[in-house]
Amino acid sequence: MAEIFYKDGLRFSCIGCGKCCTIEDGLVYLRDKDIERLAKFLHISRENFLKKYTHRENKHRVLNDFPNGNCIFHRPNTGCVVYSARPIQCRTFPFWDSILVSKQVWEYTATECQGMNIGRLYSAEEIEKIKNGKMDT
Ligand code: SF4
Ligand code: SF4
Repeated sequence: MAEIFYKDGLRFSCIGCGKCCTIEDGLVYLRDKDIERLAKFLHISRENFLKKYTHRENKHRVLNDFPNGNCIFHRPNTGCVVYSARPIQCRTFPFWDSILVSKQVWEYTATECQGMNIGRLYSAEEIEKIKNGKMDT
C-alpha cells in the first residue's frame, strides 16, 4: 500500500470565514444521525425538520440553501447557528477521503480554505478517526 502523505499529521484550525458554508451549488448531505441530532437541537420533530430544512437531491437528503446559495443555517455575522449539532460532513471537513486522496488535492483545497495548514496539528491516527466519523475537528 502506498504511504499516506499525512503520516506526520496535518494542521487545521477553522478561522470561521464561512466560505465553505456559502459555496453556490454546494451540497450538505445528511445522514440519518444528522437528521436526528439537528431535529433534537432545534426542538422540532424529525418530520418538521425534513420539511422545513431539507430536500432531496437525486436519492440523497440534503440541507436547503438560501436563494444566494448560502447554507440555510449560515448567518453572515454569526456563522453556523447549529454549530454544535452540525452535520457529519461539516464536522469532518477537511479530513475527507476525497481531499486526503493526495497531497496535491489537499494543497489545492487549502487554496480555498484558510484554516488548512495552520493551527492544531492532527495526528495521522486522529485523521483516520475523523475520516471515519469517530471524531470531530
Ligand atoms: S473555509 Fe475553512 S476556515 Fe473557512 S469556515 Fe470553512 S473550514 Fe473554516
Ligand atoms: S450546517 Fe453549519 S457548518 Fe454546515 S454548511 Fe451549514 S452553516 Fe456551514
